[in-house]
Amino acid sequence: MGSFSVLPLAARRLEGKVAVITGGASGIGASTARLFSKHGAKVIIADIQDELGHSICKELNPQSTTFVHCDVSKETDVENAINHAVSTYGKLDIMHNNAGISGEVKYNILDNTQADFEHVLRINVVGAFLGTKHAARVMIPARKGSIINTASVCSIIGAVGPHAYTSSKHAMDGLMKNTAVELGHFGIRVNNVSPYVVLTQMAKDGMNLDEDGASRLYSNLKGKFLKPEDVADAALFLASDDSKYVSGHNLVLDGGFNVVNSGFC
Ligand code: NAD
Repeated sequence: MGSFSVLPLAARRLEGKVAVITGGASGIGASTARLFSKHGAKVIIADIQDELGHSICKELNPQSTTFVHCDVSKETDVENAINHAVSTYGKLDIMHNNAGISGEVKYNILDNTQADFEHVLRINVVGAFLGTKHAARVMIPARKGSIINTASVCSIIGAVGPHAYTSSKHAMDGLMKNTAVELGHFGIRVNNVSPYVVLTQMAKDGMNLDEDGASRLYSNLKGKFLKPEDVADAALFLASDDSKYVSGHNLVLDGGFNVVNSGFC
């Protein structure tokens, strides 16, 4: 265990809770794994990047953090990650469906292929569907739980270029709303966290962004990209009892950008 330490007991918002975080090996998911661990949660990082995932578990407390190889587009993998939480830590309190890809951004729909479009939807939407389904399977008997999906500001506005990405994130908003209504009967809350641009690997690769790009962003963001930690803070709020009456909500982190613009790029 490196320099990692948990907060004093009174400050921990997730003491004794068990969380699965998909896409937890990198970017927003890795920051969320760090923050949830600091707040006393047991964390399962479910990702396809084994080496990175294991290294984060090593950096955190290996007694309370586990890596499980999981491709979120495969039902057996997702089922296995959830079962791992229950068999290792006895329950599942928090499911963070965070894994996602942008796909290759093509600015003209005529250049997009059906295969590329379906690939993005399979990971972003089907992945969130499978995570929600298998979390619900174990949360319903427990009559409690918090499910959080990382959507995007692209879940509520259009953008130039990423047709599949924007479609997938809008679909995640629908999935969240439907399941919030249905699972609310069992004491399970479902919410989305929807950031504007965060300079993670996905943004660098998919959107060709670098630090200079921040100066073009909406002025309330003061020329800065969001940090993965900013999104982790919002996920912590939605995971903890601080948000006990919040469900069916799409928590947008964009400095107000969506209110004044009809699109971006
Ligand atoms: P990232 O590339 O740093 O992290 C994504 C993680 O998902 C990686 O660890 C990757 O291995 C994992 N992943 C990819 N495909 C997977 C699969 N099939 N199964 C399991 N894991 C898989 O990028 P990030 O920005 O941290 O992305 C996290 C989430 O945030 C995504 O859903 C993304 O759409 C969303 N988001 C990102 C931004 C941004 O600007 N970076 C903005 C809004 C929303």
